[in-house]
Amino acid sequence: MKKYLLLFLLLAQSNFLIASQPNSDVMASNIAIVIHGGAGWSRNQTEEKLKSIEDGLKRALDEGFAILESGGTSLDAVEAAVVILEDDVTFNAGKGSVYTAEERQEMDASIMTGELQNAGAVASVSTIKNPIKLARYVMEKTEHVLIVGQGAEKVAIKGGLEVVDPSYFYSKEKLDRVRRQKTKDELSTVGAVAIDKEGNISAATSTGGRSNKLPGRVGDSPIIGAGTWAQNNLCGVSGTGHGEYFMRFNVAREICARMDYLGLSSDQASKQVIDELSGMGIEGGVIVIDKEGNASMIFNTDGMARAYKNSKGDEIVTIY
Ligand code: ASP
Repeated sequence: MKKYLLLFLLLAQSNFLIASQPNSDVMASNIAIVIHGGAGWSRNQTEEKLKSIEDGLKRALDEGFAILESGGTSLDAVEAAVVILEDDVTFNAGKGSVYTAEERQEMDASIMTGELQNAGAVASVSTIKNPIKLARYVMEKTEHVLIVGQGAEKVAIKGGLEVVDPSYFYSKEKLDRVRRQKTKDELSTVGAVAIDKEGNISAATSTGGRSNKLPGRVGDSPIIGAGTWAQNNLCGVSGTGHGEYFMRFNVAREICARMDYLGLSSDQASKQVIDELSGMGIEGGVIVIDKEGNASMIFNTDGMARAYKNSKGDEIVTIY
């Protein structure tokens, strides 16, 4: 009898705990992750290139999803997924970053988590192996949101993050690209958005920017609200495209604002905003997750490298 009483008390207590969670309306949400490897993949890719894009996406997706599945946070999941893409020379971020007009690499990255809308970002860094880790460090260990250039590199050294010689980022393919410039940009920035078991939404974006950019140019990827946004009970976004316009139209935040104020779905809001960019001849794409773990992957280019996985067993890895 005593045993049943104890069991009853335990159950009653656990129900009470669940009911008192602040995010109780999304407690039952799916865990899900969506990632992108840029929206500028034209149709004339070699079989080998297509395979490396899909392999990179799959590895990043699986890593991020495994973290969510084991009860990890969406912040850890998006960071881990982006680190894999940064380490993969296929993409324009970290190791595969494109070159500036002066044949150097300058990388930008940002990360945001939706519970308190906490965010961190770095821009114009040239020696940081994984800019997304430094963005997270800025968020968690400094009182700032965005730190650039040498200041950011000093923060990395102080924080014990991995600093490398700029030759680590050497890529013949990307150097050739900037030398014969005026070929169309690949827009192969990377990003990830995820929702975890607690209903927390996080987003991360990392890039080498645009090939042949002026030294010191900063794009949308490290700008909170432009290239990255995360807000619990609403949505998370990571963008890829012509950064100057993503900044001017505050694309990531704009999508979430339309979901919030107009009651649009993530598909409707993303399509509206991307359509508006198309109307101005601007190329790009976004990945979005809503508070139920539904994802939208919307782009107006030939192809956006993208992948999605959720706890219902849905999974895609695709480009066109
Ligand atoms: N949005 C990036 C930038 O303008 C480029 C990209 O998406 O590949 O820096």
